[in-house]
Amino acid sequence: MCGIVGYVGNNKAQDFLISGLKRLEYRGYDSAGIVTLDKKGKATLLREKGKVSGLESKVSQNARDDQIGIGHTRWATHGEPSERNAHPHQAGDIYLVHNGIIENYKELKDQIKDHQFQSDTDSEVLAALINSFYQGGKHPLSNAVVQALKLVRGTYGIAVISVKNPGEIVVARSGSPLVIGVCQDETLIASDASALVGHTKKAIYLNDGEVATIAKDSISIKTLDSQPVSNKVETIQTDLSAIQKGGYDHFLLKEVMEQPQSLTETLRGRINVKDCTVHLGGPNLSDSELRKIKHIIIVGCGTAYYAGMTAAYYIEKFTPEITIEPVIASEYRYRNAYIPKDSVALIVSQSGETADTLACLREIKKQGIKTIGIVNSIGSTIAREVDGGTYIHVGPEISVASTKAYTSQSIAMIMFGLTIAQAKGVKSNTLAPYIKEIAALPQEIEGLLQSIPDTVKNIAKKYAKKYDHAIYLGRDTAYPTALEGALKLKEISYTDANAYPTGELKHGPIALVDDNAFEFFLLPENDLYDKSLSGLEEVLARGGHAIVVTDKSDFNHPVEQIITVQTGLKLLTPLLLNVVSQLFAYNFAVAKGLPVDQPRNLAKSVTVE
Ligand code: GLU
Repeated sequence: MCGIVGYVGNNKAQDFLISGLKRLEYRGYDSAGIVTLDKKGKATLLREKGKVSGLESKVSQNARDDQIGIGHTRWATHGEPSERNAHPHQAGDIYLVHNGIIENYKELKDQIKDHQFQSDTDSEVLAALINSFYQGGKHPLSNAVVQALKLVRGTYGIAVISVKNPGEIVVARSGSPLVIGVCQDETLIASDASALVGHTKKAIYLNDGEVATIAKDSISIKTLDSQPVSNKVETIQTDLSAIQKGGYDHFLLKEVMEQPQSLTETLRGRINVKDCTVHLGGPNLSDSELRKIKHIIIVGCGTAYYAGMTAAYYIEKFTPEITIEPVIASEYRYRNAYIPKDSVALIVSQSGETADTLACLREIKKQGIKTIGIVNSIGSTIAREVDGGTYIHVGPEISVASTKAYTSQSIAMIMFGLTIAQAKGVKSNTLAPYIKEIAALPQEIEGLLQSIPDTVKNIAKKYAKKYDHAIYLGRDTAYPTALEGALKLKEISYTDANAYPTGELKHGPIALVDDNAFEFFLLPENDLYDKSLSGLEEVLARGGHAIVVTDKSDFNHPVEQIITVQTGLKLLTPLLLNVVSQLFAYNFAVAKGLPVDQPRNLAKSVTVE
């Protein structure tokens, strides 16, 4: 689920392994480790609970010139975070790092008699299994790996080395990403291309069911059925500045602040304000196919799900005769839901690797439904498996909690809805206001980011000291924004925050109003403004502590705090208000002294179920 790195070449493996693991830190993890082999196969295994910096100190006391090694950051699934459970795991002659879950590890463990288990992990079972097939080097390591993997149920990205052959690394994947970095006289591996940036621009993305044997000057890839696979070398698009903080204290703040640019990238070449038209090439659907669409399913988890909800509220406003169902992937994959034939499914994932979302994609495809990816990571599994797609092009999102991806996912999906509406012949004067506002949104966000951060910071600092509970409220298009705002606060400040549609208050949540909680009202000046105001009045009448975020310039109610957003937008205002929520959550977490970019217990790319 978290990070894998590997090195074989002429330089010190420890150097790349540590720098690579540092690059992968953003994914969230609880322990880290590396193993390197010298020319004779003598291993140096170093592991540490906690941060890579702890491991790094251990490495500096045990520096080696070894030119081959593998490393790992672990996000515990089986067994507590501890040095003993950290990877790499040893079994006989081999060392293994693993991302993912071996579901049938108990069964397999019962069958392994000749290994003394040192950890509680499922991964060590796989190491022992591979070692049992390896038989002290009687068989090639890649054969032993394949034999073991054929018995495994679950997800994995693995890297394996053997003391008997300190010149090769065997890697394999199923459901957990692995990239091979191609360089002169050295080969690198990583679970995420960001670890390779600055070392090489050439990468081979391994597919599920493939096994690669890697040496410093050779790469050979086969399927689990021993079919050779040709190496498709692709170019890594990311540059170094995209994965550095660029003067900000945290990646999250950097990513909030870069939304005017990241959204501009999402829109580039896709929107024509003069003609008021939207053009998305990636979905690969003809006008007649678009016209036939009667139902859209939007599949996502967490923030991606809320982006789907946001888009759904908009799309149904301007697209006739269509139903839209945003669904949570972890639920949907086990539902026995009927999908009408004239449906299309939007598969939303920043990383393109989210296990639950990927499982839904595969299920939906089996039913013959067209799938369209709304993905950020180029070349990721979801991007490769969908029938068509729209990359959001926001660049690497390093902070675990998503910000810029939400804004661009929402807009990319609204644009997809607009292409359907265009094909269905919806009049230009219905669609033009949306298209104009989408085109204006980057600048609107820019204006907001220039005017509002200090106000939001001061309020957030004050509230972080006073309250442990938050109630986010919004209606219609501002309701998903409220959900997303509450999620952000939960994720990075560990504060109990829930969101409700403002109209639901009196059906239950109003009972929560007391002096321990504050209410965060998202109040765009739209058709439902007056009705939303009644909700606010009900809260104030019960002594609530309300913060109102609104674009109504003359807002004049006796609330504790007003954050006024100046904007020329009418329809897309909730997306602007969401930027206020992002800044609020950020400053709230900073005021509590929390590790904003790597919140406890969370991982960036959730490749396990
Ligand atoms: N399931 C393995 C463990 O708990 C690997 C977790 C990971 O992906 O980091 O050790």
